[in-house]
Amino acid sequence: MKVYIEPIGKLINEFSKLPGVGMKTAQRYAYKVIGMTDDEAKDFAEAIISAKKNVRYCKICGNFSEKDVCDICENRKSDTICVVKEPKDVIAIEKLNEFNGVYHVLHGTISPLNGVGPNDINIKGLLSRIAEGNVKEVIMATNPDVEGEATAMYITSLIKPLGIKVTRISHGIPVGTDLEYADEVSLARAFVDRKTL
Ligand SMILES: [Zn+2]
Repeated sequence: MKVYIEPIGKLINEFSKLPGVGMKTAQRYAYKVIGMTDDEAKDFAEAIISAKKNVRYCKICGNFSEKDVCDICENRKSDTICVVKEPKDVIAIEKLNEFNGVYHVLHGTISPLNGVGPNDINIKGLLSRIAEGNVKEVIMATNPDVEGEATAMYITSLIKPLGIKVTRISHGIPVGTDLEYADEVSLARAFVDRKTL
């Protein structure tokens, strides 16, 4: 980073920590920031600080929230829970306008190769929600890849014996596709055509 004067080098270094941002892009972002007016730069910096300060995880579903309990948990019927890997998957499903139940965000999927076991993701939270008694259906909407399938199967093995209907979003999404990148028509169809496990 020696070729840059220090403040620019620092900024490039910070941008390069973002996913998908290489050195070239980080440099472009840094120059863009330096080209901003003071107000623009301040808004930009404040948006980062405010997001960090005001965004937390909903204590029920694990999705991002400004409050202890998110709007979805607060306002919707909780008898159908859609289980997803990450908060961004909630956004992908919400965009479809197909689902009006609640979510459960696992914050990961079981991946023995990467040392992620069942206790490393939020399965316990899901089980305690089910234990409260009014859940009728759990929709497994983890990604259709090896880890997503393994996680769906594992969770199914825990909750099916409790007499809960467990469904899995179906084909329509090619294997290996990230839910976030599935096109909306495919994802909507996968949702509607979900299969009972
Ligand atoms: Zn919530």
